[in-house]
Amino acid sequence: MNKTCIHCEDSFNLDSQHKRRVGGKINECPDCVEELQTEISETIRAVSSGDGKMACIQILKFNNEDDADLYRKGWDQWSGWNNQRSGSVHDVAFTKVGENSGNSNSKGKA
Ligand SMILES: [Zn+2]
Repeated sequence: MNKTCIHCEDSFNLDSQHKRRVGGKINECPDCVEELQTEISETIRAVSSGDGKMACIQILKFNNEDDADLYRKGWDQWSGWNNQRSGSVHDVAFTKVGENSGNSNSKGKA
């Protein structure tokens, strides 16, 4: 579905991946949403923990890309520490929106 942007008057595809990713209003093209930052974006990230059979995907929602990146960095560090659950990732505000455990018998704690 094509729409005309109120900012630049370009037509854009409302269903494009780019538009879906950046959000914004239905009458704003993704380029303008990014450029003008009209969208107060919520960033959804999938984070995997464990490996092999124990892999578990958590879907987390962050307030912005920076928080998501910060979390992601912290996560990468801490997954190298034998899954010791400590570290700075807990300083990052996020909401868990989903979890997809690869192994329902895993001994993960809620
Ligand atoms: Zn535009």
